[in-house]
This record gives sequence, C-alpha cells and structure tokens, in this order.
Amino acid sequence: MLLRIRSKISYFFKSVLDFLFPPICFGCNKEIDSGIVCYQCYNKITGSWLGVCAQCGYPLGYNQSCKNCKSSLTLPRIRALGFYTEPFLPLIHALKYQGKKSLAEIFGKALTGLLNSDPILKQAEVLVPVPLHPARKRERGFNQSELLGFEVSRLTGIPVVNALWRKKNTKSQTKLDSKKRIENMQGAFIIKDNKTVVNKKVILIDDVITSGATINSAAQTLLEAGVREVFGLVIARA
Ligand SMILES: [Zn+2]
Ligand SMILES: [Zn+2]
Repeated sequence: MLLRIRSKISYFFKSVLDFLFPPICFGCNKEIDSGIVCYQCYNKITGSWLGVCAQCGYPLGYNQSCKNCKSSLTLPRIRALGFYTEPFLPLIHALKYQGKKSLAEIFGKALTGLLNSDPILKQAEVLVPVPLHPARKRERGFNQSELLGFEVSRLTGIPVVNALWRKKNTKSQTKLDSKKRIENMQGAFIIKDNKTVVNKKVILIDDVITSGATINSAAQTLLEAGVREVFGLVIARA
C-alpha cells in the first residue's frame, strides 16, 4: 500500500516536472514525452544508411574515395554508425561530458546491430575498448568506450578484455594535422594483458574516429602483442 502511494506521488512529481521542464532530445533539442532521445534521432542511430567502402567498411560520404584504403591504417575493416554531425555529435557530447550514460545503451544496441550485419566483424572473439589515460578516466568517472563495449558484450556474448593501457595523456588532437597526430599517438598504448587476446580476432571499440591515429596506434600495439587481426567499431566518423 505504502509503496503504491509512494509510486503515485513520485509519478505525480515527475508529471509536474515534465510539464515545467519537458524532456528534450539530446540529439536535436526537440521536446519529447519521455526519455532522452526522440524517435527520429533513435532511428538515425540504429538504422544508419551511410555509404561504406566495399573493401574496408569505412564510412563514406557521397562520391568520396576511401581514406582508410588510401592511408596505411592497420585495420582492415572499420565500421561506424554515422558521421560526426547531428545527432551523433551532440549525443556523444552528452554521453562524455554530461554523463548521460544511458546513451551508451542506445549506442551499444546500434553497434551490436552493425556488428551482426557485418560478415567480417561477426567473426571477432574479443572486444577491446580503446582506453582513456587513467587521469582522464578519473576526471570523467568512466570510459565511454568501455561502456559501449560492455553493452555490445551483453548483447552478443563476445567478452570485453581491457587488454590495453594508455600511458600517454595526449591532449586534444584537433589542432594537429594527420601526420602530427600519428607521431603524437606513437607508443601511446602498452599491452596489459596479452594472454586473453593472443591469436584472437579483436574488435577495438571507440566513440569517434577522426584521423584514425588513435585506433591505429591501439591496433598496432595489439598486433605486436600477437593478436591475429584487429577490426574497428565506432559510433561516428569525423
Ligand atoms: Zn532528436
Ligand atoms: Zn576502404
């Protein structure tokens, strides 16, 4: 009885709050009835129709040639849900900087759909989240890539192994050109646990890929530690 009254009271207060401050979609700022993502943004996340390179799966815009195949990325296949524009950009910011961790569940579900639809990524045996530097993780309280990895793991049964450790606390790379980014990321990771990944096919999970320098450096470290093959799975491509 008491519980029922309490839930009625909390429902009442929630309704009042929703009336005064209607929930807003973090992807497009539109008012919504409940939750944190509107129906349209949800569909864009989970049903992305972006162009991809037939060879490596790298996301491509209209009439674009493949950056992954042209450059010397170590990863033979990288899949992404979309481009780093709306709704992906504001949603990734909400996850990382506003701590909206429930977005990791939505992204994790979408990444799982993408993984299951890809004949090459589907062969993966281990998921490795790209780690944050410990100082950065302490500051943020969590690693968004790890949250994504846990969610994909929960839905696919592929285990997450935190096989890498980030020893370089690289500052924002946005002001560097791609050559500088690669130099900057060299030796940024070391292997923490190679027993569980040796000879395995691994998917590196990250939120955003820009030049590919970060994921490339992580892949290099895994390959040097005896991993058989490394693929990439990310939310968005900048
Ligand atoms: Zn929206
Ligand atoms: Zn390609």
